[in-house]
Amino acid sequence: MEINPNFSLEECPVCRGCGFVVHEGGWNVQVECADCSAHTVYVEYADETQKKEAEKQVVKLWNMGKVIKSDSGG
Ligand SMILES: [Zn+2]
Repeated sequence: MEINPNFSLEECPVCRGCGFVVHEGGWNVQVECADCSAHTVYVEYADETQKKEAEKQVVKLWNMGKVIKSDSGG
């Protein structure tokens, strides 16, 4: 079985900044932009197998541009 720890993250669909995978609480994951804080939805996972799937899912969402823009109050 191949395990690839490196994600093929596209640039931020909002600002072309750098996205990164963020795990929170050890049970959910999202992709977030380092520059504008746009982010995907969280995907929850319960074990290592689901964790890998969750990571793939949020990376896919990110790469499709399915992100939530942070409200900066403009
Ligand atoms: Zn951005």
